[in-house]
Amino acid sequence: METNQSISIKNLALSFGALDVLKDLNLDVGQGEFLVLLGSSGCGKSTLLNCIAGLLDVSDGQIFIGGRNVTWEEPSERGIGMVFQSYALYPQMTVAGNLSFGLKNAGLPKAEIEERVNRAAKVLQIEPLLSRKPAALSGGQRQRAAIGRALVRDADVFLFDEPLSNLDAKLRADLRVEIKQLHQKLSNTMIYVTHDQIEAMTLADRIAIMRGGQILQLASPNEIYNRPANKYVAEFIGSPT
Ligand code: ADP
Ligand code: MG
Repeated sequence: METNQSISIKNLALSFGALDVLKDLNLDVGQGEFLVLLGSSGCGKSTLLNCIAGLLDVSDGQIFIGGRNVTWEEPSERGIGMVFQSYALYPQMTVAGNLSFGLKNAGLPKAEIEERVNRAAKVLQIEPLLSRKPAALSGGQRQRAAIGRALVRDADVFLFDEPLSNLDAKLRADLRVEIKQLHQKLSNTMIYVTHDQIEAMTLADRIAIMRGGQILQLASPNEIYNRPANKYVAEFIGSPT
């Protein structure tokens, strides 16, 4: 199948009133790339993801997915699956209900929904949990279910917004490996937001270091570590001095 899931962001700006959060931001993510967006709290990472997903209207600039200008497309038209830090599962629904909810709304046939839910559950090893409600799941299981909800959409592009930061260290390490394996299995384009340097170094094909609404450096983990673009990047990533 011919696919192009590259992401290109041109001169993106976003302000909340007088607060300029994203400033003339440019970023290119290659087809199938696992890009980690790394930056300290408040630098605009979530805002950028929300713009890509269409959950926020941009103030200026353009966003392209697979060469298509999606800047003014509805979120549901963009082919994006997003996973949030707080799992955002519906508490009154079972895991199966949570996974199938968006597909039902989209009017997919029942058999197709079932097939997609089962496939995602298998990939994420949450088959035995499908009939449970979120309250009966551990943090790690909830986050797997949340990833499942992105997975069933057959999205071209996955956006992760600090998906592991509510989990303890052991689980974080386990799920990190699973997310990496998921990427190897699906080979979709993924943007993964974190403020955790270790997570960035272990997951990323390339890391984009973000500060004050701009990308300071975009390079492989190796290159960022050994050849930081400036003092801020060096200190942030903990490069040898
Ligand atoms: P990050 O995800 O990197 O921690 P955010 O993108 O959430 O940062 O926020 C960037 C800046 O924008 C912060 O200063 C934050 O307070 C501000 N901000 C985020 N969302 C809103 C909003 N809806 N209204 C006003 N300011 C916001
Ligand atoms: Mg954030």
